[in-house]
Amino acid sequence: MAVELEVFADQIDNLLASIDRDTSLSHLQRTANQYRDVVAALERIDTGEYGICEDCDQQISPRRLSAVPQARRCVRCQERFERAAA
Ligand SMILES: [Zn+2]
Repeated sequence: MAVELEVFADQIDNLLASIDRDTSLSHLQRTANQYRDVVAALERIDTGEYGICEDCDQQISPRRLSAVPQARRCVRCQERFERAAA
């Protein structure tokens, strides 16, 4: 019985460790994506394209830019992009 409990505890430990790894990896990917978006926004400032939607070439609303300064798309195109990616 004690051995079974130990094996079970080891399995739980392994499961928790794998959840931790997944969480860290997903956090790292999110942070890397945000970093890439910020760098891309800085490049668009350099080229004078900042605030222009990369899909429809329309001006991104100042309200959206103030909420998400690194936004690459207007709200409508971003929603379409996310639907297509899902
Ligand atoms: Zn757009």
